[in-house]
Amino acid sequence: MRKTKIISTLGPAVEGKMDELIKSGCDVARFNTAHGSVEGHLDMYKEFLEASEKSGKITATMLDIKGPELRVSACSKNFVIVGDTVTIGDDGDIELNHPEVYDVLTPGNRVLIHDGDIVMRVVKIDPIIHAEVLIGGIIGPKMGVNVPGVHLPIEYLQERDKLFLRKMKNVDFVAASFVRNSRDIVELKSFMKDLNMHSKIIAKIENQEGVDNIEDIIEISDGIMVARGDLGTEIPLENLPRVQKYLLEMAIQHGKPGIIATQILESMIRNPHPTRAEISDIANAILDGADALMLSGETAVGKYPIESVRILSKVAEKADSLAEKKSLIELRGTLSESVSNAAVLLAMEIDADALLVLTRSGKTARLVSRHRPSTPILAASPFPEVVHALALNWGVTPYLIESFEYSDEMVRKALNVAEERGYVKRGDVIVIAGGEPRSVSGTTNFVWVQLVGEVIARGNGFGEKIVHGKICRIPRKCDIVLLSNIDSSEQPENVRGIVVESDTYDPSLLREISRRGISILAGTGTLNVENEEVTLDPKRGIIWK
Ligand code: PEP
Repeated sequence: MRKTKIISTLGPAVEGKMDELIKSGCDVARFNTAHGSVEGHLDMYKEFLEASEKSGKITATMLDIKGPELRVSACSKNFVIVGDTVTIGDDGDIELNHPEVYDVLTPGNRVLIHDGDIVMRVVKIDPIIHAEVLIGGIIGPKMGVNVPGVHLPIEYLQERDKLFLRKMKNVDFVAASFVRNSRDIVELKSFMKDLNMHSKIIAKIENQEGVDNIEDIIEISDGIMVARGDLGTEIPLENLPRVQKYLLEMAIQHGKPGIIATQILESMIRNPHPTRAEISDIANAILDGADALMLSGETAVGKYPIESVRILSKVAEKADSLAEKKSLIELRGTLSESVSNAAVLLAMEIDADALLVLTRSGKTARLVSRHRPSTPILAASPFPEVVHALALNWGVTPYLIESFEYSDEMVRKALNVAEERGYVKRGDVIVIAGGEPRSVSGTTNFVWVQLVGEVIARGNGFGEKIVHGKICRIPRKCDIVLLSNIDSSEQPENVRGIVVESDTYDPSLLREISRRGISILAGTGTLNVENEEVTLDPKRGIIWK
């Protein structure tokens, strides 16, 4: 099972194909508001939700707002060559969508267009800006513009962002582009609060300012995205791998999801097969600690959208085991962190079949996930918004349960649903962690171990094999015979398991019998079972039904 999550940007390439998109591995749908109309995005949103509902898979939706993103708004020159001088400003050769920026550019600043395909340097201001072309090419309206190292004096939220936020209030995540500092997130949060909007916020880190302020940004956000497209234009390209590792490490430290975006399978926009370098990049991003990888043009406008998701899914699944080999983060921090750490350690120690997290806020699941345990993580919550948001976290299989009243009742319900959905089966040993419902939401304060099924008795086990079958007191009539005691003169034959109720058995005799392949549980005390289907597990020393 793949554990790294996949975000697909929706666009014309997948319209009418949402079923296939989800089936091939998409966990989260992203709506990139840089392109298209509100109506167009709402249509895709509806189609995605319907397909998701039909599939039964828990997915999430992400609205990507553009914030103070700089773009070419108009240009009278469509092509520039090295050595040209162009003017930037009102009625200049190039006009920008945010005229406030003209006032902060100074000679020496670099102006990059279209992910740095075109590079210019400001040489003179009189008062229009004159820039010399260092790398030439084609320029068109709407192309992205970067001015590395310059703080843009632009309010964070733009009118178009506000429009999308108002119209798509129910998305699970808002991806906030070009976040520069924590104040940007505060501005977004208060706007969302006025709308009574509860989506989680993913801060897209796209420039040096965002990297420098990451501590504060991550504190107030619900996750981060390493937006490598703009980031690779804004900072020296050769620094990108190091910054990627640093940002993901910060996300792990804070127990919040980290996403790697852009050029994940860029070549597949045109070709049916990825490059070797892309495959390696995917594995390395997962090894660096990414919770999710995001496809952009590959699924929005590419020729092979479904194939891209399929390939990413296949490569990620193989790479997941690399992430699992990472060592545990030091045990430290709050009560929730320590209890979550203990749950992971316990699951590994007893080789549990699953880690079940009962969560009101999703926090326990995220804290468990950051350790990248090889044990599958199940997260049960009564809140749909929590369940959907966990679709983004590495290794977490979220699902909805009815209520959250008392711990023991909740565990039973959560295990029943997990069994119904095929996530666990009878006999599995599950480590359960969560917050006791009477405590404050977001506090993880219990861990316990439970078997799926009803344990009838415990005792001392002899033998290796788990035996399943009917139990009775008459040898030859059933698979597992129940004896009050056993001695060497009358050993049962033709049985696969023996349960000895007495605690005055002879261990050497039982060991000898078990060497013939018969599994034994001894010292159980008197049992009241007859002709029932049971399972005897000598290694765990239990018999259960
Ligand atoms: C990026 O720059 O890498 C990115 C994901 O942002 P966008 O695609 O929104 O420009």
